Amino acid sequence: MLKTIISILTSLSVGFGFLFLLLAQAVAASGFTYSSVEAWSDAPYVEVNNNQPEFEAEEYTFSSFETYSELDDLGRCGEAYACVGTDLMPTEPRGSISSVIPTGWVNVKYDIVSGGYLYNRCHLIGFQLTGENANRRNLITGTRYLNVEGMLPFEDAVADYVKNTGNHVLYRVTPIFEGDELVARGVLMEALSMEDGGAGVCFCVFCYNVQPGITIHYDTGTSTLTVTTPAGRVYTVVVPALYIVNTNTKKFHLPDCPSAVSMSEKNRAEMTATVSELAAKGYAPCSRCHPESQESAVDYLYGDIDADGHITPVDARLALRRSVDLEAFSELQMILANVDDDETVTSADARAILRASVGLEVF
Ligand SMILES: [Zn+2]
Repeated sequence: MLKTIISILTSLSVGFGFLFLLLAQAVAASGFTYSSVEAWSDAPYVEVNNNQPEFEAEEYTFSSFETYSELDDLGRCGEAYACVGTDLMPTEPRGSISSVIPTGWVNVKYDIVSGGYLYNRCHLIGFQLTGENANRRNLITGTRYLNVEGMLPFEDAVADYVKNTGNHVLYRVTPIFEGDELVARGVLMEALSMEDGGAGVCFCVFCYNVQPGITIHYDTGTSTLTVTTPAGRVYTVVVPALYIVNTNTKKFHLPDCPSAVSMSEKNRAEMTATVSELAAKGYAPCSRCHPESQESAVDYLYGDIDADGHITPVDARLALRRSVDLEAFSELQMILANVDDDETVTSADARAILRASVGLEVF
């Protein structure tokens, strides 16, 4: 029985290799839809179909090939499909791919992204597998997180297996777009090692095209920092604003208040201050423009010394450097770093901040 199957497979791949390719391209990647996976929470990928790739038996082959879909009407990539063998792997170093502008390529630098830029030109089938450089049918707009945390470990697994065994891996990467969106929501990655029937490599995963801390507008590729409500203890700083004060009536106004506009020059003065600072000087808010109701404040998270909205090991390092006088802190930073509320910033604060950065402590 097994012999028969293998001989059928061999005849398919050798004798009808060309027909096989046509067949393979006609088969849709699978019935996968983006709505069938849970929304991203913390893992870079999720297993699909119990981690079983959805290749048809007639697609199995022991011969290397690679195919890349034509771009669609919006210029978007479709599935990239290969049987990866050592003969497809690159023998020369990777060339430049910066000439390719994939759909949704609105790249922005963010401090919270390793390497700086939000997007990478993401190979559907990695360069290390088929040696494709600036192939626009193989490059999508993908986040650093998708590229490095999501796809790379799976590509490495396939590359290592093929190199170590000389075997073939049937491999398909499908970018998943919603409607007319220009940035893919993620990629479906399927792989099955051929000569050992999946004993060496077998997976079916969806990798999310997301970047922690950043909201991506998939329709255009633009992005914004995700505003998160800080969890934990906050230190509120009232923002000073410009007011018009009447030195005679001892009232203060918003600059566009009619009473401020019509005020006589000899009584008029401008002050940039907080409401409580003005009150300390004997000024009361105008009952017409209610300047006190417009006052704004910013909440800073204790431990978040660089004020990026998150407590990270970077904050702990800053606190440690401050504790040995290697770093100068502002008054605000001194308050935020002194999480144990003693006199100063010490290595104990740094340690507590490090613990908080990994969720072991909440201030
Ligand atoms: Zn007023």
